[in-house]
Amino acid sequence: MKDYYYSQSVEEVLRQLEVSPDTGLSEEEVEQRLTQYGPNKLKSKKQKTLLAMFFEQFKSIMVVILLAAAALSGVIGIMEGEGLVESYVILAILIINAIIGMVQEKKAQSSLDALNQMSSPHSKVLRDGQVMEVTSTDIVPGDIVVLDTGDIIPADLRLIEAVNMKVQESALTGESVPVEKNAQVLDAVELPLGDRDNMAFSTSTVTYGRGKGVVVGTGMGTEVGKIANMLQNTEDTETPMSKRLGQLGKVLGYVALGICVFIFIIGVLYGNDWLHMLMMAVSLAVAAIPEGLQIVSTIVLAIGVQRLVKMNAIVRTLPSVETLGSVTVICSDKTGTLTQNKMTVVEGWTGGNRIDFRNPPLPEELDNDEQTLLQSSLLCTDAHLKSLPDGKYETAGDPTEIAIVNVALGLKIDKNALERRFPRLNEVPFDSERKRMSTINRMEDGTLRLNLKGGLDETLAVTTHILVHGKIRPITEEDRETIRKENQQMAQSALRVLAVAYKDLDTMPADVNAETVEKDLVFVGLLGMIDPARPEVLEAVRICKTAGIRPVMITGDHKVTAVAIADEIGIYNQGDKAVTGTDIEAMDDDTLYRNVEEYSVYARVAPEHKVRIVKAWQSQGDIVAMTGDGVNDAPALKQADIGVSMGIVGTEVAKEASDVILTDDNFATIVSAVEEGRRIYDNILKVIQFLLSANVGEVLLIFIASIVNIGNPLTPILILWINLVTDSLPALALSMDPANKDVMTRQPTDP
Ligand code: ATP
Repeated sequence: MKDYYYSQSVEEVLRQLEVSPDTGLSEEEVEQRLTQYGPNKLKSKKQKTLLAMFFEQFKSIMVVILLAAAALSGVIGIMEGEGLVESYVILAILIINAIIGMVQEKKAQSSLDALNQMSSPHSKVLRDGQVMEVTSTDIVPGDIVVLDTGDIIPADLRLIEAVNMKVQESALTGESVPVEKNAQVLDAVELPLGDRDNMAFSTSTVTYGRGKGVVVGTGMGTEVGKIANMLQNTEDTETPMSKRLGQLGKVLGYVALGICVFIFIIGVLYGNDWLHMLMMAVSLAVAAIPEGLQIVSTIVLAIGVQRLVKMNAIVRTLPSVETLGSVTVICSDKTGTLTQNKMTVVEGWTGGNRIDFRNPPLPEELDNDEQTLLQSSLLCTDAHLKSLPDGKYETAGDPTEIAIVNVALGLKIDKNALERRFPRLNEVPFDSERKRMSTINRMEDGTLRLNLKGGLDETLAVTTHILVHGKIRPITEEDRETIRKENQQMAQSALRVLAVAYKDLDTMPADVNAETVEKDLVFVGLLGMIDPARPEVLEAVRICKTAGIRPVMITGDHKVTAVAIADEIGIYNQGDKAVTGTDIEAMDDDTLYRNVEEYSVYARVAPEHKVRIVKAWQSQGDIVAMTGDGVNDAPALKQADIGVSMGIVGTEVAKEASDVILTDDNFATIVSAVEEGRRIYDNILKVIQFLLSANVGEVLLIFIASIVNIGNPLTPILILWINLVTDSLPALALSMDPANKDVMTRQPTDP
């Protein structure tokens, strides 16, 4: 029966799962179901036990040689009547070494586990009547999950609400384009997964719209769980550097072996006792093999990753720490990363008049056009407004929209009251490709009105009329020119400009989408909002420049606004150029690649352009860090050498695709992370140089001693002491070294 939730009505499913769609489960109920069903995660590979880690330490060639040394010492000891002390000491050191190795490996593993935990996906659920964010593993059957664009579906859901919702489920169904979902009951049994339109499956992503669903399966009980063994991702914590070090170790080992054979032969030719010469050769082998080399880089990286967390950067894979240090270009979003994402409406324009919202008019002074501007823009926002008992208000949602809600509040227009008067019946959500959003509201006289807001060009493109002093007339080329000039003026003062339009509808179209409703609109006016730059960004941009890193701005905003802000924070310099998404579309790859270095600002960019921009920089040999937050940013984040997602405003999809998650969404943090990456890289190099030079010293000493035939200066025990005690502690200290003074004043190192 369990498989057929799609053929049951929403009420039936909710009844079976014993949950109310208005309040969700209670915390006690969740607790109890969690014990009953277990956490919502796929069975992962078994963790290595401590014992297995201990025995793994004995797998190295070093240990084999040491065992040989112990055996030889035993033979020599017995022959010369000195007993087995030396053999026991070697064996004891071997065991201690294995314990140290095991503890270090365990520590590195734990810090990586903690990191995995931190970057694991979150979901919004309704519990005890409140929408809250929880780690997706804590979700239980019966939970009501709230879905928005960019969310990863955390479990198998029977949808109970779907507003224009599209889901990408290609991994499960093979269907490459996102499929439209609804909450209607399906009158069929045994439907293939791809036809279950009222279900959403774990690990799929919401690419458009929003919805709600009740959890019908978690963990291994989900559709993905059934094929989990196929998907079992192999966790590879070995980094390119540690692999290369492993190879280096092997080469050195062979060289050492060659030298061993050589001094053994020389010694015997000198007429020395062959047993003692064998001992000397073995000592040399112990001295020469740089056993700590490979593990050291992993440990230094793991420690570095922990420090990065404290600096607000969660690095999701160890290799990215290495790459961070070699970044040469940082492509950063503007809104929220370079700026504060605290928007305030400061200017407006309707029917030929400017409005100064810094010194706002009194509510009763607003004329018809101004009222329409505020009303249409306000009805077309998803931001939430909550009035608090003390008469104050609390807002939540997209900062662009919060700015509108706030400016209206200042003029005594309450969004909630307005929405009660003119309820929303339908909508076409905002998306960053269309750069518009619209809602359909019912007016008091029962007529329908479409309200739209969006980027200026995108709005003018669907406009045929204009509202001037309460009258609607066809829009002229002259009107458009005036509006563009007004927009230019606002944008030059770094304002983000939104255009507002509306249209009265006779009937509700059968199919509400951008094509059917966003056309033939009446232009109402403009709203200009400031979003101040983050103060710390100026310094971060300056550091980038001394460090040979090129900061670049990529934004969905208007070119003039973008350049004004880029200029203010130092990203845009004399002689630099700015391009728009449309310009990029017109260029072929060749032209873009050739010119990419001239552009510091990429404006009106849609997510799909980002991939081309990354590729263009990479074609010039650059190591690119690229930020992103939306669901469509995932391909660019993957293409970039370092994909950086936003911890606060980023979607789960973007986080999943990224290498680094910024917990404070701040550009300055990327720069600090690069600095930390460089420090870590430097320190690994220092440790390697130190360990290698110590080994070379020992080898040379034994080698020369055997050539001039003065006997064995270093026994295996002495060498072990040097390698394990006097070497490893300073090496550990070196790995913690603070950054060199020049770390951000020199050019990036070629990886
Ligand atoms: P950045 O890429 O720098 O972070 P952004 O994320 O603000 O910029 P988008 O969110 O894609 O870029 O916005 C692009 C444009 O779409 C804006 O300049 C604005 O004109 C318009 N826009 C943004 N938010 C909304 C919204 N909620 N409703 C309508 N239009 C919007």
